[in-house]
Amino acid sequence: MSIAQTNEALQKLRADVISAGVSSVTPVHVASARGAVVRDVEGREYIDFGGGIGVMNIGHCHPKVVAAIKAQAEKFTHTCFMVSPYEVAIKLADRLCRVTPGSFAKKAIFVNSGAEAVENAVKIARYYTKRPAVIVFDNAYHGRTLLTMSMTSKVKPYKWGFGPFAPEVYRIPFGDVAGPEKLKDVFIQQVNPEAVACVVAEPVQGEGGFIAAPPGYFQQLAKICRENGILFVADEIQSGMGRTGTMFAIEHWGVEPDLITVAKSLGAGMPIAAVVGRREIMDSVHPSGLGGTYGGNPVACAAALAVLEAFEEEDMLGKAKALGQTLKGRFEAWQKRFKIIGEIRGLGAMLGLALVKGDRREPAAEEAKKLAAFCLERGLIILVCGTYGNVVRVLVPFVITGEQLEKGLKILEEGLAAVSK
Ligand code: PMP
Repeated sequence: MSIAQTNEALQKLRADVISAGVSSVTPVHVASARGAVVRDVEGREYIDFGGGIGVMNIGHCHPKVVAAIKAQAEKFTHTCFMVSPYEVAIKLADRLCRVTPGSFAKKAIFVNSGAEAVENAVKIARYYTKRPAVIVFDNAYHGRTLLTMSMTSKVKPYKWGFGPFAPEVYRIPFGDVAGPEKLKDVFIQQVNPEAVACVVAEPVQGEGGFIAAPPGYFQQLAKICRENGILFVADEIQSGMGRTGTMFAIEHWGVEPDLITVAKSLGAGMPIAAVVGRREIMDSVHPSGLGGTYGGNPVACAAALAVLEAFEEEDMLGKAKALGQTLKGRFEAWQKRFKIIGEIRGLGAMLGLALVKGDRREPAAEEAKKLAAFCLERGLIILVCGTYGNVVRVLVPFVITGEQLEKGLKILEEGLAAVSK
């Protein structure tokens, strides 16, 4: 099949062959990408403030990652870890167990996507505790499989028409200081605490609107979990891998989760995810109870090892912190100028602008959409999130150059001025 290499031609062809259920937020068909820049098939360049939804923390085609993928692909690309295991997965598990919070002995399993990691964390928690129930939060996003869709809070587009949902999922408010106390309320009103396997929380909520819990929140939550024999699972799929300035966001609260889910920026584009947790919990499952054909694919593991090396050798956390400070400073200055910015949300380099309108400061979803379109037209990819679709979020690669960052911020600023009119 020969295809005319224009965005328009590809979009037409796509409409014929890709399910209408999958939508793309831009019509930019990619030819290549490097660092914080994406180039389309027509040769136009875009500064990428979205990083493929938080996957490109260390940048597109990081040289270490590309070299590791090439070298591993030359050796072998698959045997199935459950058939003939290999060193690169073992090495990665060792490194991950060491970089994740928790002063106790840990073990890991590898799977292919964030949703699969969350599914497995719940499977493991249920097996270990011999309890069925899962507690999640308002504004949560955990994936699109049956269980994770059930755990996700937003109805449209994620759950609309896709029921019936998985049972034994209970929901409490997130991010208000009374949150942990509400957990006690859920024990009165909804579920026997002795039936709860785990509480699953995003330390900084991603798709739900870049909401960071207040100081002290997770310490209280973890304590209530401990008192009731409930495991605390941190879903770090979006907030992890340095995004908030620490390797994992939960470190800001000084809490050691029983299990952590990691995905997205772990593989810098290769599909790999992990559950890492307390050794006795991870080891409680019977042999062959966990696994999958591709989990811990060697090429993906090699990429992830290169990512961790880049963190160590290129001060990625330092870069993330500096980026977070620049963004925060700029956003605070804008908030004074633009009434449309209701709130600056998030932590470190995981920041969002919640747009509002009217005297009642209601969510300004249309304006957020317009702002993203304005930016795209001028060469900046930026993503919108939030339960009410009004949060413009930045997931800028840490390796963005000063010049690219300024260029991107200038477009965003002009966009804010335009939608403020
Ligand atoms: N959990 C969180 C916190 C996420 O942000 C996401 C993806 N946006 C997922 C789970 C699901 O990951 P995946 O899309 O790789 O299944």
